[in-house]
Amino acid sequence: EKEHGPKMHPELLELYDVTDHVLGVGTFATVKEIVLKSTGKKYALKIILKKTLKGKSQMLETEISVLSKVRHPNCVSLLEMFETEDAVYLVTDLAEGGELFDQLLKKGFYTEGDAARLVYQILLGVEYLHSLGIVHRDLKPENLLFEDKSENAKLMITDFGLSKVLTNGNDVLMTACGTPGYVAPEVLEQIGHGKPVDMWSIGVIAYTLLCGYTPFWGEDQPSLFESIISGEYEYEEEYWKDVSPLAKGFIDTLLRKASERPTASQALTHPWFRAVLEQDMVTP
Ligand code: ADP
Ligand code: MG
Repeated sequence: EKEHGPKMHPELLELYDVTDHVLGVGTFATVKEIVLKSTGKKYALKIILKKTLKGKSQMLETEISVLSKVRHPNCVSLLEMFETEDAVYLVTDLAEGGELFDQLLKKGFYTEGDAARLVYQILLGVEYLHSLGIVHRDLKPENLLFEDKSENAKLMITDFGLSKVLTNGNDVLMTACGTPGYVAPEVLEQIGHGKPVDMWSIGVIAYTLLCGYTPFWGEDQPSLFESIISGEYEYEEEYWKDVSPLAKGFIDTLLRKASERPTASQALTHPWFRAVLEQDMVTP
């Protein structure tokens, strides 16, 4: 074993070949590609070191039992879990198409049609998670993965549900990886973290997909926080002149104070989707 990580669970190693292919490194976990020996099918293995659990490991089981119920085309399923003294190993669906974050960087921004198709899928996944009482709390393009590398690959939400166990409150904002540009104002003000938090993030994601930059901005973290809490954002003419009023209207319904945001089910009925996705619904 040239592995430096924690000693793997013996049963896990019996069932799966753990490859060297690191799929990604997030705030808490390293994710590797694994192969189920009996079928040759590939999966993702999310390795979470227990020291990041901060003495909350008794909560972990409750959370895992909720997460293992998640079965939706736009959510990464948790299939199996192994535990050792040092780490928790979660076997999940493999999303081979990579992060929406990387796709966005490559493209610069998305057309309205493509953005609407992506946001619609995020809403379907979030509607389902919310129906199970699961609030994601960290929706952003790094946590949205394409199922495969094809042009019209399905988008899947990952990294949900464990934020409660892995952090206490605003820790999620203080992590070194990435800027918290997608976080709702009430999270920063530490006055709420319910379902509307995810709806705000979807508003930020929609904005970002359409122009390639986030609506709230600051030179440093305090000024970013100020910008988010002010709730003020603009549609700069240079980047937004060709975007429809319906798209902007959709974003505007989400980037409001928590009590005024639509639920995921309500947001799915926004006329932007009808206008943009209509062509898809016409069957020959
Ligand atoms: P963290 O909680 O540490 O942020 P994530 O679940 O977000 O962990 O995983 C970190 C990264 O690993 C993701 O941003 C993604 O690039 C990659 N990744 C996670 N899950 C999968 C998966 N099921 N298939 C492919 N890549 C994945
Ligand atoms: Mg993540």
